[in-house]
Amino acid sequence: MPLASKRRKKTGPKSPTEKALLRYLKRSLWNDFPNPKRIGCPSLEALERNANDPTHADESVSKHVGSCSPCYRAYSRLLRQGLARMRQKAPRPNSKRRTQKKIKKVVK
Ligand SMILES: [Zn+2]
Repeated sequence: MPLASKRRKKTGPKSPTEKALLRYLKRSLWNDFPNPKRIGCPSLEALERNANDPTHADESVSKHVGSCSPCYRAYSRLLRQGLARMRQKAPRPNSKRRTQKKIKKVVK
């Protein structure tokens, strides 16, 4: 097999950090599993459920996400949206806002 000789050991960083490994994994997941026909893909709702409630995630969906780039991308987008929503939900003292508005009016 001529292909085998092509594979050469690379002398990379001595001890790849976990972060680098994760980044590599993420990048390869992002691109290595093209699935243009979306064969076996769960519905967007199923992805959403997994993203919103990881503790009760559907295992088959999680597994699929790990081997399908389009779903992985959609899933990570949903996760980010979920995080953003959580941040928005954080309680904020809105009495301060009101006074700020008043001050703005006065300044004008
Ligand atoms: Zn998929």
